[in-house]
Amino acid sequence: MTSSVRVRYAPSPTGYPHVGNIRTALFNWLFARHAGGSFVVRIEDTDVTRKVKGALEAILDGLKWLGLDWDEGPEAGGKYGPYFQSQRLDIYHEAAERLVSQGDAYHCYCSPERLAEMRAEQVRRKQPPGYDRHCRDLSLKERAAKEAEGITPVVRFKAPLEGQTGFDDLIRGGVVFENATIDDFILLKSDGYPTYHLANVVDDHLMEISHVLRAEEWLSSTPRHLLLYRALGFEPPRFAHLPMILGSDRSKLSKRHGAVSITDYREQGYLPEAMLNFLALLGWSLDDKTEILSPEELIASFSLERISKTAAIFNAEKLGWMNGVYIRRLGLSDFTRRSLPFLDRDLPPGVERPLPAGYVERVMPLVQERARTLLEVPELAQFFFVDELTYEPALLIARKMDRDSAAAALETSLERLLELPVFDEESLEAVLRPLAEELGLKAGQLFGTLRVAVTGRTAAPPLFQTMAVLGKEQCLKRIKAARDRLRRL
Ligand code: GLU
Repeated sequence: MTSSVRVRYAPSPTGYPHVGNIRTALFNWLFARHAGGSFVVRIEDTDVTRKVKGALEAILDGLKWLGLDWDEGPEAGGKYGPYFQSQRLDIYHEAAERLVSQGDAYHCYCSPERLAEMRAEQVRRKQPPGYDRHCRDLSLKERAAKEAEGITPVVRFKAPLEGQTGFDDLIRGGVVFENATIDDFILLKSDGYPTYHLANVVDDHLMEISHVLRAEEWLSSTPRHLLLYRALGFEPPRFAHLPMILGSDRSKLSKRHGAVSITDYREQGYLPEAMLNFLALLGWSLDDKTEILSPEELIASFSLERISKTAAIFNAEKLGWMNGVYIRRLGLSDFTRRSLPFLDRDLPPGVERPLPAGYVERVMPLVQERARTLLEVPELAQFFFVDELTYEPALLIARKMDRDSAAAALETSLERLLELPVFDEESLEAVLRPLAEELGLKAGQLFGTLRVAVTGRTAAPPLFQTMAVLGKEQCLKRIKAARDRLRRL
């Protein structure tokens, strides 16, 4: 059964897609997929001056990375195309001219200088900003004179001077605006491009959009759109304005809060499935406790009823935690495959490439337990690959030990390990635990010294597993080097 739900994500390629933007795309996608409807991507590229190179690619890239597939739009095509507003100019011109001939819109000839003066005057008088309707009632003669001057007019909407415009928002309920607060906004600019308002309304109608799910910042544009729908004789879609996303300090989400382009999260080693889960919970919830939801579960349970009216808080800590959960859920080969580009890029240049596949596979389970992002993998795994460790020799001296007892502990460990026929986790434990006792040390003291000797750090994956993966030769070499460092201290 096909559903009549048709929703759209309508980004403007004026910048890289940030978290809020992609959250809007995700909610539209979830809504469409839940209802078995269509998810349309429409590019609102009518602001030529604000176009940013590479932004369109980044937007589509971000969607693909998260798995938000679209049924119609760029690359996909569809019977309501073209899906770039810059390729639909004729359609907007026709709509604007129709409004003019109906008496719902008019040509405005005001110069930028006049408008700037008007605005300054409004500021001086502490009046609300807005066009003063100078050209709204020009006589035929006045108009002809302006035309004769060769001025290219803009087209403005003739907003009603009184009354109210209201609608039932699917998230926040009844919303009413006084028409007196709506100015005669521009529909067609003098460069021939439509404004957002005109193009958005015309396209949502022609593309048979049933529900508009968009950011709260557009709420105040909705009465203008409703007036346009009415004037054009179109049935408006249903509207749902999504709650804002704030930083952890409740201020507007910014770069400082990690609200960077969605594709940056990929560079930073976040998994798309974790990102999707995290974004879905920015303003929506299944209940008060469930945090981990697969795309399938999200689709099955998504509903507008559970979108909150209050702002969502972007918690970067939580994203890190969630990413760690998803990392640990990956199959080993999947985790390895996703980590390899990071290892290749970030391990020191001295480490020979390509990395030995069999060895990498033995290292990865130890790293998978600890990484919160794929970006951390090279750092966590580095000591497995480098030839020489660099660390502060004093770290080799565990609590309540001194230089000599630490050096002696390493020396005896060397002797015992050298004799070991099998260098696996069990045999290592079987030798080293009793050795601690024999040396009169706590297990933690001996293991601490050995850990620094073989990994160069005080915190690392479990010692015996780590040593088994490093192998006998490498471990003996490192323990010797550590002993020598202590002796030189
Ligand atoms: N082009 C607008 C944007 O960039 C679309 C707003 C809407 O969904 O109506 O957010």
